[in-house]
Amino acid sequence: MTKTYQTDLNNIIEQVISPLAQKVDETGAFPREALDAMGEAGLLGLVSSSEVGGSGESHRAAAFVVERVANACGSTAMVVCMHYAGAAVIEAFGDREKREAIAKGKHVTTLAFSEYGSRSHFWAPMGTATRKNGGISLNAKKSWVTSAGQSDSYVWSSRPLAADGNSTLWLVPANAEGLSIPKPFDGLGLRGNHSSPVLAEGVVIESKDMLGSDGEGFDLMMKIVLPYFSVMSAAFSVGTMRAMTDKSIKHSAQTELQHLGNSLSNLPTVRAYLARMQIKTDMAHSLLADALDSLEKGRDDAMLRVLEIKAATGELVTEVTDLGMRVCGGAAFRKDSGLERHFRDARASTVMAPTTDMLYDFIGRAICGIPLFE
Ligand SMILES: Cc1cc2nc3c(=O)[nH]c(=O)nc-3n(C[C@H](O)[C@H](O)[C@H](O)COP(=O)(O)OP(=O)(O)OC[C@H]3O[C@@H](n4cnc5c(N)ncnc54)[C@H](O)[C@@H]3O)c2cc1C
Repeated sequence: MTKTYQTDLNNIIEQVISPLAQKVDETGAFPREALDAMGEAGLLGLVSSSEVGGSGESHRAAAFVVERVANACGSTAMVVCMHYAGAAVIEAFGDREKREAIAKGKHVTTLAFSEYGSRSHFWAPMGTATRKNGGISLNAKKSWVTSAGQSDSYVWSSRPLAADGNSTLWLVPANAEGLSIPKPFDGLGLRGNHSSPVLAEGVVIESKDMLGSDGEGFDLMMKIVLPYFSVMSAAFSVGTMRAMTDKSIKHSAQTELQHLGNSLSNLPTVRAYLARMQIKTDMAHSLLADALDSLEKGRDDAMLRVLEIKAATGELVTEVTDLGMRVCGGAAFRKDSGLERHFRDARASTVMAPTTDMLYDFIGRAICGIPLFE
């Protein structure tokens, strides 16, 4: 990633994302200003190839951006994370017009995989795709879609049209007739990410909107989406941990115990908690760096690292934000502390698919030589 992007990103975080973070959390407002600024600066076209006007970057740059944004605003980071995950699939299989629009920052996308029927088992959609009047008719009950009603398109999974296999992917325009959002998102954390359910009732798209081939969805989820999503989810966790750790250190140093003439950080117990937060944050950062290295070098352990990194950082961000709430005392409980927001945002990391418990099963299978899916 070039220095220009880092500088642009830093400026946007400082001038747009950070100042709006608390309001986004309080009101649940979609971070449109942040997306507009990122689009304008070319940051939404980060994983688009230079051939269509994008930056031609990959996992490392995407993780870098998501980590930095999560440090300031979890909701914005999750929206950007889902955009890059979807954009990577569109970059591989979408038409040139869409790829150029993404590269120019004029098109925001997201993933619409999770469904009410199969829940976090995203590889097994229950929604259908059938041929109708020369087009394709989609019916589904998607349970969670980040940027629902706000993005320009959905990278959508369904059962295959005719082929064998678990799933087929489609690019669905967000304004397609028959799409509806039955209830707006109102969650514990990531309050501005608009992860609402989306229903599809007889939504008609064109055959050419298929991404990849019929029945190939599972392969694309594993080869494209999972590596991107895992490293970005880990980056989200690292950025959140770093924010919590830094703010906790600052709070402890600045908060006086006036009757003793010193600060919270003069207490050995407080310092020990801060040390644990720092160590866990640095551990997560190092593991993420190794996972990126494994992907870039095509190492044999790359898939294992991809699975490990999401599970490990999901646990660590939960622990670190817990510790931050403890070490900063009642002050952390107040909304204006900026600490409890990271605590709430962090809770999504273990339950976003593949969930941490699911990953323990997958990783256990992988290291015991048992197939992931039987
Ligand atoms: C903020 C947020 C944003 C999201 N954005 C998107 C999005 O943009 N696109 C999208 O497609 N989805 C999205 N999701 C959905 C997410 O990826 C998961 O599918 C969803 O959180 C799972 O919730 P559930 O209630 O369906 O879990 P359930 O599937 O009901 O799981 C309940 C529990 O069972 C456990 N469990 C399930 N299967 C196994 C297993 N095989 N082994 C061990 N334990 C298991 C889980 O770990 C969990 O603890 C989002 C979720 C959140 C919270």
